[in-house]
Amino acid sequence: MPVTLLGASEIRALAAELDVTPTKKLGQNFVVDANTVRRIVAVAGVRAGERVVEVGPGLGSLTLAILETGASVTAVEIDHRLAARLSQTAAAHGVDARSLDVVDADALRITDLPGDPTVLVANLPYNVSVPVLLHFLEHFPSLARGVVMVQAEVGERLAAPPGSKTYGAPSVKAAWYGRWRLAGMVSRQVFWPVPNVDSVLVGFERDAQERGTDEERVRTFRIVDAAFQQRRKMLRQALSGVLGGTSAEASAVLEAAGVAPTARGEELSIDDFVRIAASAA
Ligand code: SAM
Repeated sequence: MPVTLLGASEIRALAAELDVTPTKKLGQNFVVDANTVRRIVAVAGVRAGERVVEVGPGLGSLTLAILETGASVTAVEIDHRLAARLSQTAAAHGVDARSLDVVDADALRITDLPGDPTVLVANLPYNVSVPVLLHFLEHFPSLARGVVMVQAEVGERLAAPPGSKTYGAPSVKAAWYGRWRLAGMVSRQVFWPVPNVDSVLVGFERDAQERGTDEERVRTFRIVDAAFQQRRKMLRQALSGVLGGTSAEASAVLEAAGVAPTARGEELSIDDFVRIAASAA
């Protein structure tokens, strides 16, 4: 039996049956358009046999589009009512029970996933999209690539190059793991309820080589946070607290790393931050 997708009226009926009124707190804007979920799966290049992790499957519209390709899915959902219903919805739409694992949990708290997924595909809840992405890249090294739908401003930040207006701490941290690209806009009209922000698709590919150890990453991210907390200040001042205590000590570390003490965080690439962290060690 082929997998069939959820239609808009079926999604609303399912929500009513489960007594689910979409909440802002959990970023519950459900996609009610089959073309959009198929588009997301196509942009991610999901293939039969792959294991995909989806954060926030909701009522299952994107989940079914992933399963339609012949891939299997591990779906992590925080809302118990939605998590409890997903397998039944999938079975009613032609999905073999062995293709879907549902994890009823907060995505930000899990550190174990069945099946070592290699692809992340998600329509992420707006308020936690960056923390979820960084958490998954940190804890699941099997994830080699992904496509997520996020608020437009967040997507622009994730894909921003050094020196651009939207470049910030999330851009540098995302770049620690790999390469990011904007992969298209998504109309507000495909969601129920219609959100008051625009959405984009963002793709990433993890670098083949890790940039450093966990300890090096933590040290680098602490420096990144300090640099962008005071983004208008020169690095010798912004980083004095994390690089020795005085701006003279910070300048010495920066010079040893080949970075001008008078530069600002927004001019530096992830490689610059990694060198600063190494020379501070
Ligand atoms: N994938 C569905 C779709 O496209 O229609 C729903 C996407 S909706 C934007 C976000 C989903 O993430 C909701 O189902 C919400 O309950 C879930 N969610 C919110 N915070 C979460 C968290 N911390 N961990 C796991 N799921 C979460």
